[in-house]
Amino acid sequence: MLGTPLILDSPVPWHNFLPRPNTAELMPYVITEACKSTKDKSCVDVCPVDCIYEGPDMLYIHPDECIDCGACEPECPVTAIFPEEDVPAAQKEYIQLNRAVFKSENPPGRPTR
Ligand code: SF4
Ligand code: SF4
Repeated sequence: MLGTPLILDSPVPWHNFLPRPNTAELMPYVITEACKSTKDKSCVDVCPVDCIYEGPDMLYIHPDECIDCGACEPECPVTAIFPEEDVPAAQKEYIQLNRAVFKSENPPGRPTR
């Protein structure tokens, strides 16, 4: 008689054994154009992992540090923050911009007050 498959004995949820997507290119939340005229930093105050950085023109979310909690989105007074999949069509360029800016020679830094 065969024993119980190892996967069923495991305390780890069964779905954790499924192949995971390549998360290297995922970017949970994105800041878009409306931040440029506001930059009030309300989002910075609520981010639990301090992954929102300041550039000369706007703020940016570090794509590898964001934990996808969503706390920043309702805080933005100009609705500049979206989950990547909900970024409006006219703002799609900001998905790549939020990633590329951290690889630039002059990446965003810690927000000033
Ligand atoms: S809350 Fe919105 S407008 Fe204010 S800094 Fe953050 S993204 Fe920019
Ligand atoms: S979704 Fe959460 S972790 Fe990501 S930038 Fe917003 S507050 Fe920070």
